[in-house]
Amino acid sequence: MITIQNLSYSYNGPDTSVLKQLHLEIREGEHVALIGPNGCGKTTLIRHLNALLTPQGGSVWVDGMETTDQKHLKEIRRRVGLVFQNPDNQIVGMTVEEDVAFGPENLGLPSAEIRQRVDEALVEVGMEAFAQRAPHTLSGGEKRLVSIAGVLAMTPRYIALDEPTAYLDPAGRQRVLKVIQKLHRRGIAIIHITHDMNDLLDANRLLVMDRGAIALDGAPEAIFSRLDVMQDLGLQLPQVTLLLHRLRESGWEINTNILTIEDASTEISSRMNALKGALDAS
Ligand code: ADP
Repeated sequence: MITIQNLSYSYNGPDTSVLKQLHLEIREGEHVALIGPNGCGKTTLIRHLNALLTPQGGSVWVDGMETTDQKHLKEIRRRVGLVFQNPDNQIVGMTVEEDVAFGPENLGLPSAEIRQRVDEALVEVGMEAFAQRAPHTLSGGEKRLVSIAGVLAMTPRYIALDEPTAYLDPAGRQRVLKVIQKLHRRGIAIIHITHDMNDLLDANRLLVMDRGAIALDGAPEAIFSRLDVMQDLGLQLPQVTLLLHRLRESGWEINTNILTIEDASTEISSRMNALKGALDAS
């Protein structure tokens, strides 16, 4: 479990706090989506999860190890992988496989084990055919998958991804989302920062951040029913959810706690059938 207590952080002195006494627990195996307006502190928060940043106030614990404790630093970095927003900032190798090997090499593992981890991680993200390619020749989506493989080669328990689908075409985004789903099924906890509401359909927990704190925390369906709060924060709802809210506003007795097109279509059909039944009966 990752436990964050009273976390405060500022880049430029206490008057400009980016994180404000934030509390949060992330349990093993969760799939958490993290949303919030630009500049609310999402990136700053996930940089605290593996001690890239350490708290100025409060504390962060990873499986019982405090992130300020130097003796745990290596293990914390192994357990919590970060995939940065811009994959170019994360790429260090001349070839894809060299890049993926960077983390396990830093752990000082024997070369046979490094080889095995690199191969497995590349297969896991579907990039094994690109092992010898130079990373800068890859597409944006492929670079993201290589970054994810680099983190996977460390056998993490938690992976935090900072807008991993930003600037990708629909096919690239689907590929990245599928890999994220697969990792979650393997038991790795996912913390996924996104701006795209369609990205969070797989999450079982949604965190909404506002000005350095967690404003809402719960099941996505429950949070999306808080249309007022979401709109105050300038956050969009998934299109289908918005449609159901509009139908309800115009007088339909309809469930708005729905996120997918399939469920929306079932709900609308059942309401229409009920309406038809009532009309036939009258
Ligand atoms: P988000 O990920 O929600 O967009 P960030 O955590 O990136 O938010 O940024 C929160 C605030 O901290 C913003 O006002 C941003 O300008 C500021 N900030 C982020 N990184 C730095 C930095 N390295 N130096 C100074 N200010 C920063």
